[in-house]
Amino acid sequence: MFGNNTFFDKLKSICEAYAAYPLANHSTFKIGGKAEFAAFPKTADELCRILSFASSCDVRVRVFGNASNVLFSSDGVSGLVIFTGQIKELSAEGEYIRASCGVKLSSLCNFALKNELSGAEFAFGIPGTVGGAVYMNAGAHGGEISHILVESTCLNMCTGEILTLSASEHEFGYRKSIFENGELLVLSSLFALKRGSAEEIEAKMKEYTEKRKASQPLSMPSAGSVFKRPAVGFSGKYIEDAGLKGFKIGGAQVSEKHAGFIVNAGGATSGDVLALIEKVKKVVSEKFGVMLETEIIYVE
Ligand SMILES: Cc1cc2nc3c(=O)[nH]c(=O)nc-3n(C[C@H](O)[C@H](O)[C@H](O)COP(=O)(O)OP(=O)(O)OC[C@H]3O[C@@H](n4cnc5c(N)ncnc54)[C@H](O)[C@@H]3O)c2cc1C
Repeated sequence: MFGNNTFFDKLKSICEAYAAYPLANHSTFKIGGKAEFAAFPKTADELCRILSFASSCDVRVRVFGNASNVLFSSDGVSGLVIFTGQIKELSAEGEYIRASCGVKLSSLCNFALKNELSGAEFAFGIPGTVGGAVYMNAGAHGGEISHILVESTCLNMCTGEILTLSASEHEFGYRKSIFENGELLVLSSLFALKRGSAEEIEAKMKEYTEKRKASQPLSMPSAGSVFKRPAVGFSGKYIEDAGLKGFKIGGAQVSEKHAGFIVNAGGATSGDVLALIEKVKKVVSEKFGVMLETEIIYVE
């Protein structure tokens, strides 16, 4: 552990921060040990200042939004973990919405509805933030972030430079983007929507919510779909056809409701989840010759 109180004292002088912060309550999986340090900046400026300070102290930094696509190690995470959820500015200009990295996708969608702007409805119900969604190119119901994103204001964590990336410079692919290289951080993004009728927008959001409720184990902690969609077919279908629905290792279980999800059925550790992921990959590969690729991100 980083045995230096000076680092923590200075960190606290920049923004809300904690030492030995329990991560489980801060992830949708409800799994994770303690972060050596955790920080909760309220503005992009605070975020940039923390990053510059941590870099000057050579402290490892990881940045998360709502931690809805990650599995934190039950042994804890060394260095500094930053959660952006309090950086949540939203503004509309004509048919454009600018949203800070910590804005929840549900807030973005409700804001679009209020402004009678259509195009973001697909994202309603994805429990992430704008930053995490841009990183993942999150998508659902045939839509994805790349369809509505115009540009992002980013911080280069190596140089401290603030730059604007156009949509094409995001190098979006299926559940991937340039942010995977770990150099750039999304500070805010600009989205282009279209004028629409509030009733129609709201009806779509309701329809998508109902679809999620009917098909996903929303009452149990999870990180959503564990595997990416393979080139052919659906991961959930392969897992179900392999007879693994409900299969459990420790407290981790292949969801009875949606086999593409692993749920924390009570007291699951990251080791349980990782072992279950390996088991699922092995069985599906042996039965169908399909190598599933993990979508969720393991953080240790
Ligand atoms: C019940 C449930 C349903 C889900 N349904 C869907 C779905 O339909 N479609 C879908 O695509 N996903 C879905 N997910 C997964 C997840 O919600 C999305 O991937 C979401 O976009 C992640 O956002 P986040 O803020 O939680 O990111 P986090 O989990 O916090 O982080 C994910 C990655 O993004 C990086 N990151 C976070 N913020 C930033 C930033 N500001 N700049 C750069 N990198 C950043 C992190 O370092 C990490 O590598 C679901 C998850 C759950 C639990």
